Amino acid sequence: MSDDRPVLLEATGLKKYFPIQRGFFRRTVGYVRAVDGVDLVIHEGETLGLVGESGSGKTTVGRLILRATDVTEGTIRFHRDGQVLDLTRVPRSQLREYRRETSVIFQDPFSSLDPRMTVLDIVGEPLRIHGIASGDELRRRVRELLQLVGLRVQHMNRYPYAFSGGQRQRIGIARALALRPRLIVADEPVSALDVSIQAQVLNLLRSLQQQFNLAYLFISHDLAVVSHVSQRVAVMYLGSIVETAPVDALYSTPRHPYTEALLSAIPKSDPDETRSRIILPGDIPNPADPPTGCRFHPRCRYARDICRAERPVLREIAPRHQVACHLADELRLTGVAAPAGAQNAHGIEQTG
Ligand code: SF4
Repeated sequence: MSDDRPVLLEATGLKKYFPIQRGFFRRTVGYVRAVDGVDLVIHEGETLGLVGESGSGKTTVGRLILRATDVTEGTIRFHRDGQVLDLTRVPRSQLREYRRETSVIFQDPFSSLDPRMTVLDIVGEPLRIHGIASGDELRRRVRELLQLVGLRVQHMNRYPYAFSGGQRQRIGIARALALRPRLIVADEPVSALDVSIQAQVLNLLRSLQQQFNLAYLFISHDLAVVSHVSQRVAVMYLGSIVETAPVDALYSTPRHPYTEALLSAIPKSDPDETRSRIILPGDIPNPADPPTGCRFHPRCRYARDICRAERPVLREIAPRHQVACHLADELRLTGVAAPAGAQNAHGIEQTG
């Protein structure tokens, strides 16, 4: 897929700092820089995969895009009906409109559904809250949504405990679709599921995307999963995007050492493949006190003096391929034969 589809959402210079408060008077003594200058674009009907280790800031980016938390700095522009909404400045009434066009699928289908509500209540809740449907019309719409996600309409009056993990995630997807959104933030939507069930849920997400021209921000730590649903991938490290590219280019020719290390952890599908896993030393650093220069330098096996002194900027190194690394022009990094490599692991049909 090329980038000639219309832009749906653009985030520029996005920052989210959480204050660290101490003492009796709760004085602010510092900030956790969870997101520290992220730029990203999502086009209509595309999936942008957002990957990184736990603590990289990817979930906070999702929350900022949903406007579930306030932005410290930066802008988020949403395109609708030929107009551009600046979500960091719009009044609350317009934010409510925006909330109808965006939705979320959570990681854990066990805790994200209220156990005291029936499927009818859970899936119908957004329609009721926004005053779109009630009574028989609500039941009709919920029936339609359950059919869309492959659930039996007879189960509408059951409670979440009566369903398997995969079925619960389908309930969560039906709820996310209720308001016919244009953008869905899917935060680790299959991480809690068995591999065989993951494949079914991912195929469902892809087919719904084709049916409704949905855009996804697909957040995951699992690069094998991401390769199956994404057209482009952005790699996050310690609050910033360090590489972004179309999925084929990112997997076969990574240009950032962090991406190379993440890819090396994907299980080999071909026994003759010779690549070996790159073990990164240490943990992801404290976002309240990030390293100087390139934030990845304490864990980077290619680091040089310049890496410790200067922070690299995200720059275009090939068409639609951006990287933030001082040595990107000279390093020859090892990729993987993805996305096909992960296809066997998850049994997911590739449609390109
Ligand atoms: Fe490694 Fe230096 Fe590139 Fe950072 S800038 S990723 S430390 S080579």
